[in-house]
Parts: sequence; C-alpha cells; structure tokens
Amino acid sequence: MSDIRSLSPHYDVVVVGARVAGAVTAMLLARAGMRVLAVDRQGYGSDTLSTHALMRPAVMQLARWGVLDRLIESRTPVITTTTFHYEGREVPVAIRPEPGIPGLIAPRRTVLDRTLVDAASAAGATIVHDVSVRGLLVDERSRVCGVELRDDNGQARVVSARHVVGADGLGSTVARQTQARVKVRGRSSVAHIYGYSPVSSLGGYHWYFAPGLAGAVIPTNDGLSCVVVSVPTTRFDAEFRFNLAATRLAALDKLAREVAVHAAAGSPVRAFRGTPGLLRQGYGPGWLLVGDAGFFRDPLTSHGISDAMRDAEGVASALLADSEAAMRRFEDERDAFALPILEATEAISSFEWAIEELPERHKRFSDVLKAETALLAARSACDRVAPLSHAAHPPSRRSLRAPAMHA
Ligand SMILES: Cc1cc2nc3c(=O)[nH]c(=O)nc-3n(C[C@H](O)[C@H](O)[C@H](O)COP(=O)(O)OP(=O)(O)OC[C@H]3O[C@@H](n4cnc5c(N)ncnc54)[C@H](O)[C@@H]3O)c2cc1C
Repeated sequence: MSDIRSLSPHYDVVVVGARVAGAVTAMLLARAGMRVLAVDRQGYGSDTLSTHALMRPAVMQLARWGVLDRLIESRTPVITTTTFHYEGREVPVAIRPEPGIPGLIAPRRTVLDRTLVDAASAAGATIVHDVSVRGLLVDERSRVCGVELRDDNGQARVVSARHVVGADGLGSTVARQTQARVKVRGRSSVAHIYGYSPVSSLGGYHWYFAPGLAGAVIPTNDGLSCVVVSVPTTRFDAEFRFNLAATRLAALDKLAREVAVHAAAGSPVRAFRGTPGLLRQGYGPGWLLVGDAGFFRDPLTSHGISDAMRDAEGVASALLADSEAAMRRFEDERDAFALPILEATEAISSFEWAIEELPERHKRFSDVLKAETALLAARSACDRVAPLSHAAHPPSRRSLRAPAMHA
C-alpha cells in the first residue's frame, strides 16, 4: 500500500525504514498487539546496496520468528560449510545444524526484506513503500510525537505517534533530526565491490584473504553466488573506482583464480566505497534508533543483519515496557554486544595484519558471536514456554513471543 490518504492519523509506533531492522521491529510490535506504521521511501521488494551472508545469530532469530522456513522455501540454498582461505591455506569449518536450523542462508535482499515485510503485514502492521519521512513532529516538551510524510506523487501527510523508531539506515534522517550523539567511531574503512555469477563448483561460504585484499563467494538464490572483493577505501580510491569490473576481476584472479573464471560473466558490478563504523545514542524523548541507524560496523565480518535483528527485538521490548528504565536497558544491552563486535571487526577490517595473524583474529570474532548466540539461545528457551500462554490468552501487548508465520 502506498496511498497515504488512507493512513490513520495516529499510531502507537511509526517506524522509519522497512528493511531488516524496520520490518522486524514492526513485526514484533504488531504481534504483541501494537498499532504500528512502517514507512520506506524505496519500493516493496527492491534491492539495496548490500551483500547478505547471514551468520548464525540472524538465522537463529529467523527460525524463532517462523520466517526461516519461508526463506528456504524461496529456494535460498542452505549453507553447511564455510571455508577460510589464507593465501592458499584452507581452513574449512562445518556449520553445526540444530533443531529447526539446517545451516546458514544468504537470501538476496529482494527476498529477505520482502519476506520480513510480509511477516510484519501478516501480523497486522501497516507498511507503506515509496513514501518518505521528511521531518519529525515535536511537541511543546521537545518530545518527538510523529512524522511528516510525502509520497512519490508529492502528496503530504502528517501522522502522530507515541514513539518514532529510526530504522532508516546509516544516513538516518531520525538520527540527524534528533541530533543523536555519536558515542563511538570506528577507525577503518573498507570498500566492497560485488556482483552475481554462477559459481556452482564451490559449495558453502568461502572467505579469501591476502595482504590489503579480501574476497567472498556467497551462494544465494537463482543458482547464483554473490562474489565480493574488499579493499581498504584508500586503495579503492587509488586503483578501483574508475574501472570497477576490470579491477575486481584482476583482484579475484590474485585471490582465487577458480572464482575469477566464473565472475567474468556475471551481473553488473556494484560498489560501496566504505565508511568507518559508528555507534550512536540509542534513544531520546519519543524516539529510538535501530539497525544501521544506531550501529554500523564494516561489512567485512558480515554481521550487520544479525545486529539489526537482535537490536530490533531489544527496541520492541523497550517500547512494550514503555519506561525510561526499559529504554536504558535496550541501549546498554545493545552496546554490550556492539562494542566487542565493533572492536573485533576493526581488528580484521583495518587490514593491519600479517596473514598468519588472521586466524586468531577470526577466532576472536567467533568468540564474540558465541556470547551473542548464547543470549539468543536463552531467548529461544523462553519462547518454548510461550505457546501455553498463547493458547490460554489472546495476544498480549506485553508478549514478544511470536507465533510461527502462516503459510
Ligand atoms: C556493501 C555491503 C555489504 C554488506 N554485507 C553484509 C552481509 O554480507 N551480511 C550482513 O549481515 N550484513 C551486511 N551488510 C550490512 C547490512 O546491509 C546492514 O547492516 C543492514 O542493511 C541494516 O539494515 P537496516 O534495516 O538497519 O538498514 P537498511 O537496510 O539501510 O534500510 C534502511 C531503509 O530505510 C529507508 N529510509 C531511509 N531514510 C528514509 C526516510 N527518510 N523515509 C523513509 N524511508 C527511509 C531506506 O529506503 C532503506 O530501505 C552489508 C552492508 C554493505 C553496505
């Protein structure tokens, strides 16, 4: 739906942005009985500048929310191995299956974001695409209390809300307009250049590393793999930016000749020039930030989507409790995960390592993920108690335990 005339004048929560962070926040709040509007200026099911290798925390969340099966049914391949290549030395790692989680997945954003939006709509959230949030409404006590909308036809509309959530990405309008403070800045910046090719000979995720250069093969939908080359932004500016296709191929040839031969015939190449990580203040009067709007770390560790999903649940819990203490708890918990993730990512994305030091840095990152998966496993254990209360009571505004998605 994109007719803003038919929207209600007031919602409990307006979410700005309806991709990973926004759609999940809207889904969880709607499942808990809140009246939610999510707004995105881009089209329903559109692509975005991002690769999409999901790590275990994201896959665990998708399974908990009943969305994983739907993604696998959309012919997203299940990944059961991941292999690190350190200048020719291969380190294969098996992905341990768990009940309900046969492996990892890397759905195209056209598939993942659309599936999450559908889940939010099915839960009762109102989602509008091709509509921008142009400004925030602020009451006499300087509390954010709504948004100014504009659709593609230039039509304007004002909607009020008890809370506004900025799930609007790195360049967040909500963060800018609320002057959200930057608490921590990263140091390194990496460019990522990617396209899609059929690389059927390799199974699983493959991560390649050489001094000043990294690459990845990420199997995804339609029999294609996302083939990525990553270099420090300074190197991108000096060598890559004016001839992306040829320089990416030459870099792949150095990293993995067996991949380069397939990558020559592929989709057009896209590039993200890179920007240092940042952690923003998480909330203020009437507003919260979630996903990249609140925390951005370099994509080299493929953890942004996992972060967005974990923090969307934190934001939803805080909004359901609707107290200063709950908001504080959300931000503290987010930071307790974000800071080690940022630090462990920087240790890799700085490219300040000798190749033999890298496995240890990857292990450090993996240890950080283990703490996160332990938290999510504990949340899953709580979910298993929930169906009894669901059976006995109508959906409660205070419960985040979500029913499985309908087929
Ligand atoms: C090159 C690259 C590769 C990556 N690879 C991976 C990977 O392999 N694995 C992984 O886990 N993560 C990866 N990431 C990170 C991942 O893309 C992000 O962490 C994730 O997209 C964050 O989701 P989000 O919902 O917070 O923001 P976004 O996906 O950026 O969505 C924000 C949405 O808000 C909308 N919006 C913005 N402003 C407004 C407005 N004023 N009004 C209405 N709508 C608005 C935008 O249209 C957009 O749709 C990568 C990122 C990049 C750049």
